[in-house]
Amino acid sequence: MITFEQVVKRYPDGTVAVDDLSFEVPEGEILVLVGPSGCGKTTSMRMINRMIEPTSGLIRVDGRDVMATDPAELRRGIGYVIQQIGLFPHRSVADNIGTVPRLLGWQQDRTDERVEELVEVVGLRAELAERYPHQLSGGQRQRVGVARALAADPPVLLMDEPFGAVDPIVRGHLQEEFLRLQAEVRKTIVFVTHDIDEAIVMGDRIAILAEGGVLQQLDTPVKILAR
Ligand code: ADP
Ligand code: ADP
Repeated sequence: MITFEQVVKRYPDGTVAVDDLSFEVPEGEILVLVGPSGCGKTTSMRMINRMIEPTSGLIRVDGRDVMATDPAELRRGIGYVIQQIGLFPHRSVADNIGTVPRLLGWQQDRTDERVEELVEVVGLRAELAERYPHQLSGGQRQRVGVARALAADPPVLLMDEPFGAVDPIVRGHLQEEFLRLQAEVRKTIVFVTHDIDEAIVMGDRIAILAEGGVLQQLDTPVKILAR
């Protein structure tokens, strides 16, 4: 469903952020990219939705070469969840979640229904929909971020340290609830973290990165036991 074949990214200043990276994420699974800061995790994610273009190598999403796909069309199929700064501060929770449906020209009724449904799906109380991001706790904001990424039901999710900005107890809840949701929605997910414990909890597979390349790939206990 998502494949990297010998992908290299060299930035204009000469920094090689990703060096000969290859991996595969089967449909409906979570691949966790884990590794220290600066090892190329975010660069890899951004190449999947073409926010950054690879210097060489091939990236496919659902069989299609991303470099040969219209970026707007590509991004319609890819939800993106990032740490902290992802929400529009001057829009209510409901407006934030409805961003993509609005861009896609959905009718207001349909957008409203979808927003209402998602608020519940990610475990937020209904009355929070009218609040603004600064009126939410860190954990609540991350839930809004997940809801927004799921709004138009994209088959692929990119999650870049999505639970990184909250305390460990809240993080544990978010991880647990997200996995319960994933068991139903079965998105194909690339999940980035620098926390090995989180990688083991969240991943079907883990790719350990170091200096731009994969050091080792392994199946997590969850995956091994599921066979
Ligand atoms: P991670 O997400 O694992 O922390 P990044 O993908 O953000 O890693 O960065 C990988 C490497 O590329 C780092 O050495 C970083 O400094 C460098 N880098 C990231 N963005 C740029 C850029 N726009 N120009 C030059 N170097 C960059
Ligand atoms: P966290 O420790 O998760 O960051 P906070 O201390 O930020 O939590 O928030 C605790 C509670 O207070 C949350 O339920 C949040 O919705 C509420 N809250 C935070 N800021 C505001 C605000 N400006 N107006 C109304 N409620 C708020």
